[in-house]
Amino acid sequence: MNEDWKFQRRRSKLVDLLRERGIEDERVLVSINQVPRHLFVDEALRARAYNDEALPIGMKQTISQPFTVAYQTMMLAPQPGERILEIGTGSGYQAAVLCEIGARVFTIERLRPLYERTSQLLRVLGYKALCRCGDGIQGWEAVGPFDGIIVTAGATIVPDKLLQQLRIPDAENTGGRLVIPVGNRDSQRMNRITRESADAYAREETEGFRFVPLIGAS
Ligand code: SAM
Repeated sequence: MNEDWKFQRRRSKLVDLLRERGIEDERVLVSINQVPRHLFVDEALRARAYNDEALPIGMKQTISQPFTVAYQTMMLAPQPGERILEIGTGSGYQAAVLCEIGARVFTIERLRPLYERTSQLLRVLGYKALCRCGDGIQGWEAVGPFDGIIVTAGATIVPDKLLQQLRIPDAENTGGRLVIPVGNRDSQRMNRITRESADAYAREETEGFRFVPLIGAS
């Protein structure tokens, strides 16, 4: 069987599984059905790329479990053309999912070897995410404000700089949303924080997850 066809079949089965697990946003499911996750992991792990599991990507980091990527993306609800900032580029898979939805993606990774490898991979695959190496806790003020910010590492607190870089709602735009897992080293709860005005935010807390830690000065 042709390799691409084999991976496409596994990808559709993964999408069916995500639907069964409660992912209802068709835009997210279509995007996951497009992104070749097997190209975001080491060749030795490709056979496991469409299992619903996190996998190592080197430097003690992981590509998140597909359910987690789908869940966070569903909570963020990015729309085509929106400016979305991702903290924790890692393998680049989440950034690719956001690009497939049509968002304008900005992504920050603190580990230089991962940043270099992933920015090149995204370019080769044709994903136009703007990548940066640095501490994502500071956000990326020069290219903000953002319609959405997604943090893909576990935070102990909500970084103030990220809140400040969410779009303030006006007559044409709704306020920016921040999706961030918050808790301790062992478990975090997913939070969605929506900017309601210059100094007011609404916060919702949902499912429990376990991420690698968000590292840096807040
Ligand atoms: N989104 C990634 C993907 O699709 O593969 C998964 C990210 S992995 C679970 C978390 C990533 O966050 C790691 O690559 C880690 O180096 C990065 N990270 C941790 N703290 C960070 C920070 N302060 N700024 C930027 N990246 C950070």
